Amino acid sequence: MKKALFLLTTTLYLTGCQAQENTNAMGNSNESNFTVVKTDQQWKEQLSPEEYFVIREKGTERPFTGEYNMHFEQGTYTCRGCDAPLFTSDSKFDSHCGWPSFDQGIADGAILEKIDKTHGMIRTEIVCASCGGHLGHVFNDGPTGTGLRYCVNSLSIDFEEVEKEE
Ligand SMILES: [Zn+2]
Repeated sequence: MKKALFLLTTTLYLTGCQAQENTNAMGNSNESNFTVVKTDQQWKEQLSPEEYFVIREKGTERPFTGEYNMHFEQGTYTCRGCDAPLFTSDSKFDSHCGWPSFDQGIADGAILEKIDKTHGMIRTEIVCASCGGHLGHVFNDGPTGTGLRYCVNSLSIDFEEVEKEE
């Protein structure tokens, strides 16, 4: 009898999980496909509490507080979770929204998009394609040719400066 109950619970859990995935996923963003996979404990050891909140719990840093909001050096912005390159400084612009903003990713497939229906809005969440780390959201009100505004938390990214030629 106990075993039957266990099986039933497992089935319910699996069904529930699948239903949720169907509404969240926008196609190829299957979590199991990430090349960098760590446990919550490993992420907690690697990241500061603020970074963990934003990157793994999809939090949002307060606007105008991030270190890369008004940062316009030449170089590459990488994922703070796994160091994958995500954006170049060429795509960064000042959106006045309080978060670092870019008009495109560094390469096709570097960033995954997911439908986010939390907080009573329908938005498009952006995550690192290598580790699934939360970056922010992408909006289609960008002022440049791409028409896109990748609104990113400073806590989700790092910056590698282009080496200046002497
Ligand atoms: Zn990453």
